[in-house]
Amino acid sequence: MTVNALAEALAQRRFFWSLEFIPSVDRILRDDLSKLGGIAAVMRTTPILVTFAVTDRVVSERDPEPVAAASSLLDTTGKQPLVHFSGKGRETADLERVIDRMRANDLSNILVLTGDRVKQEPVTGRVRYLESVPAIHRVRALCPEWIIAGALNPFKYCEEEGMAQYMKLEKKVGAGANLVITQIGFDPVKLREAVQVVSENRAVPLVANVLLLSAARARHMRRNQLAGITITDSLMNLLDAEAERLPDRGSARILRRLALQIVGVELAGYAGVQITGLHAPEKVLALEEAVESAKADCPDQVTWDEAWKEAMTGSDGEIADPAPQGHGWRFGDPHRHRATLAERARFLVLDAVHTAIFDRGPIAACLGALFRPLDGREDTVAGRALHTAERAIKRPLVGCDTCGMCRLHATQYVCPETCPKGLANGPCGGTTLNRCEFGDRECIHSRKYRIAASAGIEYQLREWLIQAVPNEIRHRTSWPAHFAGKGPSIVQLHRGEPGLPGPDAGQARRDERSPVPSNHIPRDA
Ligand code: SF4
Repeated sequence: MTVNALAEALAQRRFFWSLEFIPSVDRILRDDLSKLGGIAAVMRTTPILVTFAVTDRVVSERDPEPVAAASSLLDTTGKQPLVHFSGKGRETADLERVIDRMRANDLSNILVLTGDRVKQEPVTGRVRYLESVPAIHRVRALCPEWIIAGALNPFKYCEEEGMAQYMKLEKKVGAGANLVITQIGFDPVKLREAVQVVSENRAVPLVANVLLLSAARARHMRRNQLAGITITDSLMNLLDAEAERLPDRGSARILRRLALQIVGVELAGYAGVQITGLHAPEKVLALEEAVESAKADCPDQVTWDEAWKEAMTGSDGEIADPAPQGHGWRFGDPHRHRATLAERARFLVLDAVHTAIFDRGPIAACLGALFRPLDGREDTVAGRALHTAERAIKRPLVGCDTCGMCRLHATQYVCPETCPKGLANGPCGGTTLNRCEFGDRECIHSRKYRIAASAGIEYQLREWLIQAVPNEIRHRTSWPAHFAGKGPSIVQLHRGEPGLPGPDAGQARRDERSPVPSNHIPRDA
């Protein structure tokens, strides 16, 4: 008999722990599933430990699909794991296959992510990413009863990247996420900020991803520039000094910091924690003890703040700062980063051109009459000529890759194809101070945020779900389908209480939605 202890803990508002497992083909990093017998025994005596998270394509793109490992965890422990799905190199059909396999294995908790940059870029072609927002929307439509988690990276220190994260989170919840899990991070100010923002805007339970952070792990993360994880120089210095000078190489203080983080997020109002890097049963028990001791030391925020300060202070008296120096943006700060004159002018001109040519008026009517007959005949000579013309005009103008479903009017005229992951609905978690995870440009969603904020259309970043582009329509003209009223498909998400996971939650959310006609995007929604 399987128990969805995660759903029970959420429904009863009981703080919980989840342990993260990383299935991998890499022998060194492979999680030792043989330890699960021991973990299962710990689970029976540790009711706070309600589930396992099983990651997807974290180590490499060759990692085994997590459904098999999750199913084995379910068999061993009798408790429903949380299966991760990463959109790296995947499309909607892949997601639907995973859903089918999960159903066949009696699994019903999923975390849907876009995923970080693929480890090995192909020599030819471009990797496509299935975006988390339409993916969550699809899962909710197919599985109204499931717990569907979305990810949030609250560790952002510039206005544009931070606001874009929170706006995308609204879309994820509007699309059907009923649980939110943060990126790994060590900044309690940002963790508290996330609770405040989420509880003010969306009453959805938050889970903090925490990590047993040793000097070796921190160095590995910095060396490999793990997407969206901030480990500052001062934090690294503290860990190095402890590893060098303390007889236990700092392990007691590392455990103490993890215990304090867990106590801190519970005090802040988190629903639970997802613990990364801790699998051995004896370590889980040691952590339980350390958390009990930290709880006794820190009955309130004031005592916790003092204990955290002590845990972050080195023997030289230096306090490690988990936030990057000189970047102190906080949610609620006044808007400072408006679009530049050039960004604003570009938006206004392209919007006027779009309206005149594709929306209404005599030119749009003539072009519609001319191009509409080519809908469904994009592979003809005329269709291919139109594709060449569209690419020749739009590529130099906006970086167009002729995705076959132009979304520019829904993306503030910043082409989603200029994001290396092709994301249209908001940023991935990988930005660093507005820079793209790929390191070669500003994140396009930071620019979109500036333009939307300046034009007073931020609601588009919060409420318009832009559907994924099917691969089979790529690299052909989008104009005939546009004039035929077929694309792109935008769903207007309504803001509202998502509710805790339960049998009616999915239905309630679906009823809130009304599809926006594909060729009509409301300008004053
Ligand atoms: S442009 Fe932004 S969303 Fe796209 S890959 Fe870079 S950081 Fe991620």
